[in-house]
Amino acid sequence: MALEQDVPCAGCGYNLRGLSSTGLCPECGGSIRASIEEMKRGVTVAELRAARRVCICSLLACGGAVTVGLTAFSRPWIVAGIPIVGEMIAWTASLLALNFARPLLQRTALGRRCFVFGFVIAIAALSVVVLRLLLMHFVAIGVAGATIATLVTASNVLAAPVPLLAVIDVLRRERAPRWLAAATFGIVFVTALADVSCEFLIFSEIQRMPPGMFALTTPHPAIGYGVIWPIAIAGVVSGRPVAPVGYGIMFGVMLTHAAWVVAVILMSVTLTGRIRRRAMIGQGS
Ligand SMILES: [Zn+2]
Repeated sequence: MALEQDVPCAGCGYNLRGLSSTGLCPECGGSIRASIEEMKRGVTVAELRAARRVCICSLLACGGAVTVGLTAFSRPWIVAGIPIVGEMIAWTASLLALNFARPLLQRTALGRRCFVFGFVIAIAALSVVVLRLLLMHFVAIGVAGATIATLVTASNVLAAPVPLLAVIDVLRRERAPRWLAAATFGIVFVTALADVSCEFLIFSEIQRMPPGMFALTTPHPAIGYGVIWPIAIAGVVSGRPVAPVGYGIMFGVMLTHAAWVVAVILMSVTLTGRIRRRAMIGQGS
């Protein structure tokens, strides 16, 4: 019997409409019957919980990254190790977010590709950070070395949206309000773009800063350059001239990151509501 409605393949997401329900997916060879079962099943409570964990880890990573940025105001804190703790929180939470998002991304071929992309970038960036910290006192890496290290670390902002794409997909499948998934997708996308332009700006700013000020500051998979705001404020307070486009990028990225935080909190609240509702239905039956 031919399928009369849209049924995404559980393996690759290909639309199976018009195909026989007993056949195989023409794209990946997966069973069409299994895809129909998958669609009827809907989102499980375990998937809702995993999506909420992704949101919480992303917010934690954001908090860690802001702690790192705060050290711009107080140099002695760097000695006290606060940025190092902030970095560790940011990195651990962002890698956990990616890990919790993994089973959610495994459902489709596109999701699997996104996961591999995010994972490779995050691990490469983290390795560079660790290597740099380990070698800092023994080897002078020079301008070229520092440039390459910064570029690899900075590519990290492209991994930032990956775990949240999994949450957006869960909300879409869960038939949560459409505006929430759409708005979050837009915010996550714009934030990633803003982070990329911010990278170039920070890269030029770092050269004009006192040595060591941002040596330990690296972007994180879950937040990117949200830490730009202390740099912007420090620049305004000290009256250091910055090109107007620089201010545009600085304040723009601060706005998108604020929207990002609100969107992630809204998604967590929505997911919590869905989890509670399932629990009530479970008790009622
Ligand atoms: Zn398929």
